[in-house]
Amino acid sequence: MHKNMRYFHLFQKSKYGVGLRKGAVYNFLKVKYNFISAKISEKSTMYPVLVLQSTLRCNLSCPFCLVTNKHPQNWREYECTPDKYSKILNHKLSKKCIFSVISGGEPLLNEHIDELISITVKNKILPGMTTNGLLLEKKIETLLAAGLCDLQVSIYDNTKSRLEKILPLISPLIAMNCSYVLLKSKIEFSRHNNFEEILELISMVFNSGCALLKFNICVPFLEGAFYNDSETIFEGSAVYDKLIKACKAAFPQIRFDGYLSDKKILFGNKFTVYFPPPAGRGHNRRMCRLPWSSFIVDSNGNLGVCCNMLPNTEERYGNIFNRPELINEGHTLKVRKSLLNNDGPLPSQCIKCANLAGVYGSVL
Ligand code: SF4
Ligand code: SF4
Repeated sequence: MHKNMRYFHLFQKSKYGVGLRKGAVYNFLKVKYNFISAKISEKSTMYPVLVLQSTLRCNLSCPFCLVTNKHPQNWREYECTPDKYSKILNHKLSKKCIFSVISGGEPLLNEHIDELISITVKNKILPGMTTNGLLLEKKIETLLAAGLCDLQVSIYDNTKSRLEKILPLISPLIAMNCSYVLLKSKIEFSRHNNFEEILELISMVFNSGCALLKFNICVPFLEGAFYNDSETIFEGSAVYDKLIKACKAAFPQIRFDGYLSDKKILFGNKFTVYFPPPAGRGHNRRMCRLPWSSFIVDSNGNLGVCCNMLPNTEERYGNIFNRPELINEGHTLKVRKSLLNNDGPLPSQCIKCANLAGVYGSVL
């Protein structure tokens, strides 16, 4: 499904904006069409999307996971409860949110998940979720009854075969988008068998009745004091180009969007596969808008900047309850300013990040 079609479906679910917070649609459009300034404020733009880290626990252990301090000994302190969530939704920074993505860790491990969704609806925000999908079969009925309206399932090599059975059961009930992180080693290895495994993955998601498969490029992540970019696909990768061509040749009935796509389509329900542009070594593409679009917090109000700078239990990017002004100070402001200024230096986290070329609307 084209992302604009997905927005349209969500807009329908919000009763064409009537069921949303006041000014939320206008604010969303301002962010989407780039009427932004370095500061987040009512005068310029507020965050349209709340991303809630509802738990620091996960039932998987991916090597490239960006969630810092997973499974801390005091994990209960980081579980989101209905009270904690209501406090976040009542905070002035949530005022113009149109959509809430309940994430984790794995959000389905949170015992309050159904209530978190129904609280979102009561607060006139559309509830969505990112999940690895392994617990979906057990939970889907109560999630839908609570009002869940959007679902993104992350697929990994070690979950593919289990999801092959689960996804077809869920897709008739809710439009589902899938994502998969493409590792450099993976595409280099699979070139020797004509990318067989990646073609099988596309086929599995297509046959499961999902709406979209979005490939992600592995974001370089901090390992001790160093950034590890060994699994990041950079521009100039001939194998990546070859992979995309092989996928297009194998699936003429599927629509391909993003990098190397030739036809620009603005709308449509057709199953879509999205390939992102590879990460650039140059700093000339500063299209990432995550620090404007996504209000990323953990259950205690610790703030994140983007998916590469997630909330931190040591309050590295501040806490919205202790000092809400921090969203317009320090590192967070520095990141936004540098993304708006093509000539200045970029923060180290952004330099090799694939999202510099822009983030496909997987959420909004
Ligand atoms: S499923 Fe997501 S949260 Fe869990 S380990 Fe993997 S990347 Fe991290
Ligand atoms: S470009 Fe920078 S702000 Fe955007 S996701 Fe990457 S690290 Fe975060």
